[in-house]
Amino acid sequence: MKYDVIIIGAGPGGIFSALELMKRRPDLKVAVFEAGYPLEKRRCPIDGKKVKTCVHCSTCAIMKGFGGAGAFSDGKYNITNDFGGTLYEYIGREKALELMEYVDGINVSHGGEGTKRYTTAGSEFKKICMQNKLTLLDASVRHLGTDINYVVLGRLYEEMKDRIEFRFMTPVEDIQPIDGGYRVIFSGGQEECRYCIVSVGRSGSKWMEHVCRELEIPTCSNRVDIGVRVELPAVIFSHLTDKLYESKIVYRTEKFEDNVRTFCMNPNGIVVNENTNGIVTVNGHSFEDPARKTENTNFALLVSKHFSDPFKDSNGYGESIARLSNMLGGGVIVQRFGDLERGRRSNEKRIREGTVRPTLDATPGDLSLVLPKRILDGIIEMIYALDKIAPGTANDDTLLYGVEVKFYNMEVKLDESLETNHPGLFVIGDGSGVTHSLSHASASGVYVARCLAERA
Ligand SMILES: Cc1cc2nc3c(=O)[nH]c(=O)nc-3n(C[C@H](O)[C@H](O)[C@H](O)COP(=O)(O)OP(=O)(O)OC[C@H]3O[C@@H](n4cnc5c(N)ncnc54)[C@H](O)[C@@H]3O)c2cc1C
Repeated sequence: MKYDVIIIGAGPGGIFSALELMKRRPDLKVAVFEAGYPLEKRRCPIDGKKVKTCVHCSTCAIMKGFGGAGAFSDGKYNITNDFGGTLYEYIGREKALELMEYVDGINVSHGGEGTKRYTTAGSEFKKICMQNKLTLLDASVRHLGTDINYVVLGRLYEEMKDRIEFRFMTPVEDIQPIDGGYRVIFSGGQEECRYCIVSVGRSGSKWMEHVCRELEIPTCSNRVDIGVRVELPAVIFSHLTDKLYESKIVYRTEKFEDNVRTFCMNPNGIVVNENTNGIVTVNGHSFEDPARKTENTNFALLVSKHFSDPFKDSNGYGESIARLSNMLGGGVIVQRFGDLERGRRSNEKRIREGTVRPTLDATPGDLSLVLPKRILDGIIEMIYALDKIAPGTANDDTLLYGVEVKFYNMEVKLDESLETNHPGLFVIGDGSGVTHSLSHASASGVYVARCLAERA
């Protein structure tokens, strides 16, 4: 066999697997096959001015390439078992946290040393939230910021590039079990390895389904999160964001007893377009560099939906809602909270006259024509609940962008080593459905590398 280990995908999962294998077993021959470009060649043509919507590049620079979906993210590494994935169900709570701390240490020593780590532990906000029917989840978060995250990825690549073989623009088409290992097939060639680690993230979800079907690896459906991104003056949330940076707050709605949660908080950040398979949704970033900070804070409010029988396609449901918003708005829709409450669409004039200056050029419209009533009612209830701990959240001029959708991969059946029913074939990161975050995906990579380092 030419390789001991082939890793498919160079997102956080694949990167941390490769790095750990290089450290623990420098004798092993390891290759990483990645569908996208090296880090420095990743460029999305959407600039919000000349190019506003997806032009369907042959490989999406936002989701694919060295660094994976997280390369241009806000770089928030949440160290917790409370959200971001269920890795702890496979490897235990303590081990999962230990590995996330280990990953944090590596990020810090590769450019993140000046960045801040926040924690909810002992925070007075827990009580204030509870008194207002809100739950503040426990977490410790390292905020690298989009700029430092990029620096860290660059340094990790520099450290590995001469000892690990990286093959970019090499989307893997098939994996075939062979005697003593696997054959990895890609356009124009094939290679063999003893062990294979699959780490293809969200962008590889359809391909992952194909592999599971072909190799008869059992799977089950996962949930989808649907909602909006809220943008308001940073001062409204500054008492929370200054101390916690990101607060994950959950509210149980009175009407439907659904959970609505905050997600991906970006103090002094910007709202951005996100493109998933040609569907434009919304997301947010913030930078460490003070010169790039804005006067606004943004965060998502999401409701989870999980379909099982007879309809199983939770992601398909989320996609339909996102498509509807794209159909009505030509992309992302923005609406003032006051307009939504009054049952009227926002227009350019109302947005312009509002006190919150939008950081994303989106189409003024009416989110009530897009989001199902149950989801929209939950979001409105949550905005009023947040208004109690951060007065001003429910102001008329608060902006809501829609839709934000978080898609999750189906869950692949794995054992406690994250190994499939095929010995030596591992699935890690978001592609496994087990993780949904940078820290969990990275930790799963380290974990599998250590299992292999002992076995190989
Ligand atoms: C805009 C944005 C902001 C985010 N912000 C945060 C944040 O602040 N904090 C957080 O915790 N999470 C965040 N996330 C989520 C986070 O990026 C993911 O959870 C994480 O990247 C998952 O890592 P992964 O390695 O499992 O997969 P990915 O990062 O998706 O990497 C998978 C890689 O596999 C490659 N691939 C796919 N199929 C194939 C194939 N067939 N052959 C070869 N290669 C293939 C892809 O090109 C990709 O590079 C964000 C995501 C986005 C899109």
